[in-house]
Amino acid sequence: MACASGAGKRGDAAVPGGAAAKAGLFDAHVHTELAACAEDITAAAAFARFRELGVGFGFAEHADQLYFPRQGYFEKFEVESGSLAAMRESSRAGHNRFGRYRELVAPFAAEGVPVGIEAEAAEDGPGLGVLEDDLAGWDYVIGAVHEFRGMGSRGRTEPMADLERDFMQQTEKLCRAGVSVYAHPFRIFGRRGREIPKHLYRPVAEMLAAHKVAAEINFHTNRPDPEFFALCLELGVRLSIGSDSHAMWEVGGLEKHLALLGELGAAGRLGEALWRPPCAKR
Ligand SMILES: [Zn+2]
Ligand SMILES: [Zn+2]
Repeated sequence: MACASGAGKRGDAAVPGGAAAKAGLFDAHVHTELAACAEDITAAAAFARFRELGVGFGFAEHADQLYFPRQGYFEKFEVESGSLAAMRESSRAGHNRFGRYRELVAPFAAEGVPVGIEAEAAEDGPGLGVLEDDLAGWDYVIGAVHEFRGMGSRGRTEPMADLERDFMQQTEKLCRAGVSVYAHPFRIFGRRGREIPKHLYRPVAEMLAAHKVAAEINFHTNRPDPEFFALCLELGVRLSIGSDSHAMWEVGGLEKHLALLGELGAAGRLGEALWRPPCAKR
């Protein structure tokens, strides 16, 4: 994929997104029409909107979803989407959509837009939930915990100790696999109606620091805790900005991200505090 050339023209502070453009924020987490959970977003419309706003961005599509048909994904395929064996099987059946994703983003990559994927830890392997051929050629990988593995109620009723163990195991797998960014830290707990285990803030931040993984500020159905991100900055962990846009109304809406950076006292030193995709190919 191509090098990051940043945004086109700089936005004006009077238009939405202008402040984000002025601050030089880079939104590394934007989905496309290939996501099963996409609303009205398309790669072309997002590209046009970001260029209009003057905000730099990169696409990062859900890797697990690209192995299965978009239609009926949540009803039929999501349950096995963490399994490499299921990905192989589905690819053999002709459902692998990585080729379509590469084709879709190629014109934007040619315009300097970095392109990555959002991957989970494999349920049945030591690394990422992505087959080897499909992992090659991306500018960056965002690692995410979207599910608690092997739990009947998907984390709604199981003992917290079990959820915490599974969460830390997945987080460590992602870090060891060399992801660049750790998506929406701790969001999974809130999604399952559980308490956020704040005592894990330090172990997670230390793990990110040790593996040089950036922590993502992400407000998509999520409320990032400033306490965790302050700890990240203290330990030298860079912060990545992710709108996690699935709909066009979310594109360029980085005001909350900017406010949180201000709250953290990082607004004046964004150059060193923020992660951006490296120019070099992976
Ligand atoms: Zn995610
Ligand atoms: Zn996402």
